Amino acid sequence: MEKIIVHAKFHTGHRQLGYPGKCRFVHGHTWRGTVAISTEVFPRDTLDMSIDFGHIKQVMRDLDHKMLVVESDATFMDATRFEPEGVVVMPGRGPSVENVAHYVFDRVVALIGRQYPGCGITYRVEVTIQETENNLFIVDKTATV
Ligand SMILES: [Zn+2]
Repeated sequence: MEKIIVHAKFHTGHRQLGYPGKCRFVHGHTWRGTVAISTEVFPRDTLDMSIDFGHIKQVMRDLDHKMLVVESDATFMDATRFEPEGVVVMPGRGPSVENVAHYVFDRVVALIGRQYPGCGITYRVEVTIQETENNLFIVDKTATV
């Protein structure tokens, strides 16, 4: 078994619309993310490198200094009020740590598919997103690409 592990840190704003506590107000976090990808034997490029560590890190770095929202957040989806390039739309009903982890998971799987399309290799992809010192969420699933 081979495994790649990449860490990244990114700063974002978000808010949990409809949440009864203080998290409904705009606030920021310094998130820490870890992506661990394992498979029996990774495919290799012409330099015997597997999946580019920098590209995996970039999936998380693309969120840096952005406002994480969902489609239903009309205020931040209004391009006349907030620059669209500063807003990232998360899946689901809120920009929760759960949905940030799924967002990263989906993009990492797509990244593998772009680099090594149609290989039919099954990868275990574990995405850990830490919202605060005490709160983290893990998506741990397999994907065949
Ligand atoms: Zn928060």
